[in-house]
Amino acid sequence: MNRLQALFLVLLAGFIALLWLGTGRVPPPSVVESVPSVVQPVQTVAQPVTAVSQSVTQISPLIIPVAGVRADQLQDTFSDSRSEGRTHDAIDIMAPAETPVIAAADGQIQKLFQSERGGTTIYQLTADQKLILYYAHLARYADGLTEGKQVRQGEVIAYVGDTGNAGIGNYHLHFSIAVVSDPKRYWEGTNINPYPLLSQ
Ligand SMILES: [Zn+2]
Repeated sequence: MNRLQALFLVLLAGFIALLWLGTGRVPPPSVVESVPSVVQPVQTVAQPVTAVSQSVTQISPLIIPVAGVRADQLQDTFSDSRSEGRTHDAIDIMAPAETPVIAAADGQIQKLFQSERGGTTIYQLTADQKLILYYAHLARYADGLTEGKQVRQGEVIAYVGDTGNAGIGNYHLHFSIAVVSDPKRYWEGTNINPYPLLSQ
């Protein structure tokens, strides 16, 4: 009886140990499995933010597109309201008439255009084909400037004027930056604020 009792106790202890180990081992995998399911939604939320910040950080540095203007002279007029419920979506850089307008980045002149609002204007595609730079209210183009011409950052491309709806004698460069999806469609894109990019 003693041996049987001892054997029974050993078997019982073994059985209990198996049960304990069994129940003890089950929870860890369920905890491990739940960790990726918690992490994954965070990653899907983080991806668009990363994509936006990458697209901004990948933009090559721009320079202020009016000769002699310093960063501390710029004013953020991007969100100012304009006629017919429009927002400005650009920066106005004040400068005397005929001040040289210089290319803010390397790139190609896509279009030289006479517009009712913008007056004499230039559309430039940056060399990385990510941005369209738009220069408006120009007095005139630099000599030899043509559509398709490759220009270097800092090259004189035009002169400050008051053409279009700038207002007579209100000499300034209206400058906007659009992030393009198709480089051939220079007139499309999403305008981003030039101010933080130029005032760095
Ligand atoms: Zn403007």
